[in-house]
Amino acid sequence: MATQPLASEQEARDVAEAARESEWSGPSFVRDLFLGRFRLDLVDPYPAEDQAEIARAAPFMHTLEEFLQRVDSEMIDRTGEIPEEYVQELRDMGAFGIKIPTEYGGLGLSYSSYVKAMAMVTSKDGSLTALLSAHQSIGLPQPLKLFGSEEQKRKFFPRLAKGAISAFALTEVDAGSDPANMHTHAEPIDDSNHWLLNGEKLWCTNGTRAELLLVMARTPDAVVHGKQRKQITAFIVETSWPGVEIVHRCRFMGLKAIENGVIRFHNVRVPKENILWGEGKGLKLALITLNTGRLTLPASVAGGGKALLQASRTWAAERVQWGAPIGKHEAVAQKVAMMAANTYAMEAISGLTVGLAERGNYDIRLEAAIAKMYNTEHGWHIVDDALQIRGGRGYETSESLRARGERPIPIERAMRDSRINLIFEGSSEIMRLFIAREAVDHHFKTAFALVDKHASKGEKAAALGRVMRFYPTWYPARWIGRGQVPGSFAQFGKLAGHVRFAERHARKLGRAIFHAMVRLGPKLEQRQLVLFRAVDIGAELFAMTAACSRARSEAAQGRKEAIALADLFCRAARVRVARLFDDFYGHYDREMYRVAQQVMRGDHAWLETGIISMLEDPEGADAPARQPATNAV
Ligand SMILES: Cc1cc2nc3c(=O)[nH]c(=O)nc-3n(C[C@H](O)[C@H](O)[C@H](O)COP(=O)(O)OP(=O)(O)OC[C@H]3O[C@@H](n4cnc5c(N)ncnc54)[C@H](O)[C@@H]3O)c2cc1C
Repeated sequence: MATQPLASEQEARDVAEAARESEWSGPSFVRDLFLGRFRLDLVDPYPAEDQAEIARAAPFMHTLEEFLQRVDSEMIDRTGEIPEEYVQELRDMGAFGIKIPTEYGGLGLSYSSYVKAMAMVTSKDGSLTALLSAHQSIGLPQPLKLFGSEEQKRKFFPRLAKGAISAFALTEVDAGSDPANMHTHAEPIDDSNHWLLNGEKLWCTNGTRAELLLVMARTPDAVVHGKQRKQITAFIVETSWPGVEIVHRCRFMGLKAIENGVIRFHNVRVPKENILWGEGKGLKLALITLNTGRLTLPASVAGGGKALLQASRTWAAERVQWGAPIGKHEAVAQKVAMMAANTYAMEAISGLTVGLAERGNYDIRLEAAIAKMYNTEHGWHIVDDALQIRGGRGYETSESLRARGERPIPIERAMRDSRINLIFEGSSEIMRLFIAREAVDHHFKTAFALVDKHASKGEKAAALGRVMRFYPTWYPARWIGRGQVPGSFAQFGKLAGHVRFAERHARKLGRAIFHAMVRLGPKLEQRQLVLFRAVDIGAELFAMTAACSRARSEAAQGRKEAIALADLFCRAARVRVARLFDDFYGHYDREMYRVAQQVMRGDHAWLETGIISMLEDPEGADAPARQPATNAV
């Protein structure tokens, strides 16, 4: 196979659409929210903690905590290496097999125990989180659990549980957010008993230390409904096999010890038993794996938020400037308050989403995507505020602070480590696109054929029938609801007004999306900022509901203080929702787009004078130091 040209926009969409889960495996609060329905019953009462599971997890959590207290994170950050003794200790305590069932040698703990463990690890060391999470959230154990045959589970789980590190290899130089550009490929040989794998993967976390890789590769196209379709298949690859080569270890601004690299495959013979789930199902497998894998980041970001909150509030109370602790000055006080309120909401979102996933019979893909997007973005603001509150000490490294006798609080490292959260496992933009696609799905299925120029007369007539059946009842009902009834949702006490707001604005959101579809028709797809504002409103309403539901549950158990945090969070979220509705179609979207095109054409290059260009390489080495692998077999 020769080097592939880049996929067109349509091809990229077709590949993503073919891999999309078109069926819903259960109800979803967020899916209904975008249709203007506030299904509180789906998320409230807030999932209760499973005390038996907490007791089962306690010995492991205790060992992990004791280990983390001893970990020298400054050394890990400085050297860019996690010592083998640490990895071995993690292996010995079962940290590589937290969710792997006990019958296969794992700890057999629940997803919520797993994410709590990751939150604790993150509060100490992001590089360790990357190691454990790349293995268990997206590495082999998770897809093996979801899609592996019994034989594959018996073969790989015991190794993985003992600490055979695994990695997830999807990204390539040309295939970042867009897997349609994937060039790594495999062809059947030996009467299809083996596949010959060739290509190169980029930024594969754990790849430089892994024994097992889950590699997504293109396999020969298939004809589906008379159309040629790109196929992607998932292969389990042993890094010890001939032809697997670590070409480069990547280094980053943060997560200094992440074991991330470029992995090349040259005529690697993969036995057919190492195909996971089936030929052509690899992209769907990868996307479903990411859907659940995405539950880890929201929890770990919330864990990081708690550590930053503790450091910030302590400093805000201790540090006296201008005659008072800095936390008494309003500008700092508001940061501390919002940090606490947002951390509370982030943990509520994460806990709710994990709880829904564990409850089963619930489709969490939208909730997980919002949790990933919302928590990583709020988490970033928290690091930023924590650094600001610590002032110069926030910018100083913990080693330098220690050397001059101050408490070595590693805010600077936390900031470097956390920026990537908004990029990997689905960037914020890709999360918004994914959520938006699902948000309009019902309208799309019902009415799209009416405006689709390729639809036949029969398809248009069928669509008209669907429209006539759905909208005359759905639309008027979006104007009336419990949120308009004073005193409703009284079970939420002081927070009832926020729940009423969420109900009213869920209906308003449903109407706004419908109006946008009528107003913009198929052009809505191109208006990302309009879609993204709809997504952001949905995310805020979900976050408010999660926070209120959690606070109601906690207050009932005697923790009344939670009400104040949920209340403050909701007040701020309401202001954001109001702004988003006010700006729904954008006051200057078109102007921004126009100027962006001018800027990219170079029309305003005159602005860039008097600088040393970042584009120029002082060593004059414009060409890459090494040639990428050719895809020719
Ligand atoms: C530290 C680190 C660890 C990683 N670990 C792994 C791993 O273990 N396995 C793995 O397979 N990959 C891994 N990745 C890859 C990571 O998932 C990708 O970086 C991510 O998918 C984004 O791809 P990209 O960086 O090529 O960005 P691009 O796809 O080039 O996107 C660049 C920017 O454009 C935006 N953008 C792209 N398309 C659109 C669009 N249609 N609309 C609007 N905005 C758009 C993106 O959001 C982003 O902001 C890792 C990356 C890093 C840096």
